[in-house]
Amino acid sequence: MAAISEILNKKEFSKDDIIRLLSITNKDEHELLIKKAYSVKVNTVGRKVHLRGLIEFSNYCRKDCYYCGIRKGNQKINRYSLSDEQVLQVVELARRNGLTGVVLQSGETSSQLFTERVTNLIAKIKEITDPGFRITLSLGEQTPETYRQWFEAGAQRYLLRIETSSEKLYRKIHPDNELHNFKTRLECLKNIQNIGYMAGTGVMIGLPFQTIENLTDDLLFIKERKIDMVGMGPYLEHADTPLYNYKDLLMPQTERLKLSIRMIAILRIMMPDINIASTTALQSIDPSGRELGLQAGANVMMPNLTPLKYRSNYLLYDNKPCIDQVADDCLYCLTKRIKMIGEDIAYNDYGDSMHFINR
Ligand code: SAM
Ligand code: SF4
Repeated sequence: MAAISEILNKKEFSKDDIIRLLSITNKDEHELLIKKAYSVKVNTVGRKVHLRGLIEFSNYCRKDCYYCGIRKGNQKINRYSLSDEQVLQVVELARRNGLTGVVLQSGETSSQLFTERVTNLIAKIKEITDPGFRITLSLGEQTPETYRQWFEAGAQRYLLRIETSSEKLYRKIHPDNELHNFKTRLECLKNIQNIGYMAGTGVMIGLPFQTIENLTDDLLFIKERKIDMVGMGPYLEHADTPLYNYKDLLMPQTERLKLSIRMIAILRIMMPDINIASTTALQSIDPSGRELGLQAGANVMMPNLTPLKYRSNYLLYDNKPCIDQVADDCLYCLTKRIKMIGEDIAYNDYGDSMHFINR
């Protein structure tokens, strides 16, 4: 078996190398990988953390992904959609706190009305922010025309996780119908890239039925498709979803956390100049989960700025953190945590992915 130090000195990782790195069980080897990834991060994107304010602006969803707490079939939640005014208030709060961009996220809705509404909302956000203020969308699968309309209205970035690069696994975690089609999802990601968005994707880690080989292919997919930004984190159970029935197949959450941290570290080494988010799901396993993500190579965080009273209706998984913390406290707490690990928030910096700029 190849020594970890030998693999870490390579210019390119082979598939076998990635499998070996993901399969690490030894603490010293794990630390060696994390150290290497952190030094790659410091030498490329630096010790700066870019903050984007997350606005979960609607939990209406037409889809029924087996893992997600806001899936259409979950009758136990109250559906909401923030008014334009509420969204603009959050944008104003983000701006006042020195954030240079927001992420508008929602369940998946597809209608002419929704498309127009988002287009108008983007225009309104542009009116109250400086010309460079970055708008990221995470609104699921849409037609190329819709993606283009939103891009032309002023959104610069789009996040669409592929969830897994394995079509076989994708089919296991989604209903078998037209709305949940792996090829359509890939096609959407391609369209997002072709239109000119800074494109983000990601996967869930530790899903039932998922293998280390699947995760290896996920990392290779992200590199091959020249993705600019990545948000990946542990899969977490939600009791009111069909995938919950397979909870006995899961590895312990602490193992899922470690595996997620290794995924981040390996990806940082494979793609030194991309943006990688340290996701909220990491924190729901361990209060310091997001700091561990930063120390493994992540450089982006998305503090949740959704008005408090709506947060409990946007629970993608059980025990989601920060659902009772007002936005100001959330920002304050993050700032402290970031400082504690010797990093700084990149204020006055749009934090565009260097990978996007360089290509
Ligand atoms: N509806 C849009 C979509 O699916 O692209 C955007 C919102 S969706 C809630 C954002 C992401 O949440 C999904 O891409 C998925 O990876 C993640 N997610 C949903 N349920 C999850 C769970 N149980 N554990 C971890 N992540 C989850
Ligand atoms: Fe809807 Fe996105 Fe959840 Fe799937 S992951 S059910 S599309 S919100």
